Amino acid sequence: GFMAPPPMAEDPGNVKVVVRCRAFVRREREKGTQCLIRMDPATNKTTLFAPVEGDENASRRVYEDKEFTFDKSFWSHDESDPHYAHQEDVYRSFGEEFLDHNFNGYHTCIFAYGQTGSGKSYTMMGSPENPGLIPRTCEELFERIRDEPTPNTSYHVQVSYFEVYNEHVRDLLVARTALPNYLKIRDSPKDGVYVQGLTEVEVKSYSDVERLFKQGDLSRTTASTKMNDTSSRSHAVFTIRLKQITHSLLSDETIERTARMRLVDLAGSERAKSTEATGQRLKEGGQINKSLTTLGRVIAALSDPKRHNPKGRRPREVVPYRDSVLTWLLKDSLGGNSKTAMVACIAPADYDETLSTLRYADQAK
Ligand code: ADP
Repeated sequence: GFMAPPPMAEDPGNVKVVVRCRAFVRREREKGTQCLIRMDPATNKTTLFAPVEGDENASRRVYEDKEFTFDKSFWSHDESDPHYAHQEDVYRSFGEEFLDHNFNGYHTCIFAYGQTGSGKSYTMMGSPENPGLIPRTCEELFERIRDEPTPNTSYHVQVSYFEVYNEHVRDLLVARTALPNYLKIRDSPKDGVYVQGLTEVEVKSYSDVERLFKQGDLSRTTASTKMNDTSSRSHAVFTIRLKQITHSLLSDETIERTARMRLVDLAGSERAKSTEATGQRLKEGGQINKSLTTLGRVIAALSDPKRHNPKGRRPREVVPYRDSVLTWLLKDSLGGNSKTAMVACIAPADYDETLSTLRYADQAK
C-alpha cells in the first residue's frame, strides 16, 4: 500500500531566503567598476551602497544606502576573501538538508531569482569545473542510494526538464521543432496538476542525468539564439522524482514513498518591468511579471500565513497558486510539508536592479 509521509509541524523553517553576490565579470573589471555590495558574514546583513557621484549609475536620482537581512548571505565576489562562498558552500547550506527531506518522502523546491547576468544559471547549473546546485544534488542523491541504502528498498529516479515561456510549457528533453511544441497542463483529482506528455526519463546513475541536463540546456540555448535570448525570458524547471519502494519483511507489506525535487532557474527579473516594451515584448513582460509576482506572493504566504491572511481565512484559500502557470505547476512542491529555498542572485554594481531583487527577496521571507 501507499504510505503517506508522517505529518510534520508546519514551522516557519520551511522557507529559506538567501542572497548571493557574484564576482565582477570581465567587462566590469575592465571599466574599474565600483562594488556596491557589502555582506557581513556574522549577521548575514547585506548592504547596498548608493553609487558615488560621477558614477554612470548615479546620474538619475538621489540614492540611499539600503540594508537587508536574509537567512544567509553568500559573498561570491572576491575569491581572495576568507568568507568567499564557493559553489560547495551554497550547496551545503541547504542541499544536504533538502535531500534528507526528500529521502523522508517530502518535496523540495529551489529557485534562483535575479536579473539576467546576476548568476542564476551559475548557481543552479554552474560549469563542469564549478558545478552548481543541480549537479551536486543529483550526484549526492546517487551516492546516498549507493552508500546508505535502506534495507529491502529499491530506488527509482526519474528526471524531467521543461521551461515555462509566456505561460506555455515546453519540454526541454525533446529535440526542438520548427514550430513550438507546447504541452497541455492537466489537473486531475488523482494525480494533481501535471504536464501532459512531458518526457520523464528513468536514470540509473549520475552520468545518465548529466547527459540529460546537457541535452536540456542545449535545447534551451538553441532556442535562445534563434529567438533572441528566450532563456532570460523563460523559467527552466528541472525535476528529480525519487521513488522508494520498501518491502517490509515483518508485515509482508510494501511501502512506497515519492518525493520531487524542483530546481528552478527563473526568468530574468528585469523583464518584470517592461515600461518601454511593446507588442510581443510587452506581453512577455506582463506574463513574466505575473509569474514572478505570483511566486513572490505564494512564497510570502507560505513563510508567514498570518501576515498574508489578515481576515482570518484559512491560508490554503489565499495562497494564489492558480494565478500563474509556474506556481500552479509547482503547487505540490510548495507549501504543506515541502521545503522551499530562494537564492536571490545579485550583481555587484547595479543599484536599481539589485534593490528590486533585494526587495523581492525581502517580501518573500
Ligand atoms: P544569469 O543566469 O542570472 O543570467 P549567469 O549565471 O549566466 O547569470 O552569470 C553571468 C556571468 O557571471 C557568467 O559569466 C557567470 O560565469 C558569471 N558568474 C555568475 N556567478 C558567479 C560567481 N558566483 N562567481 C564567479 N562568476 C560568476
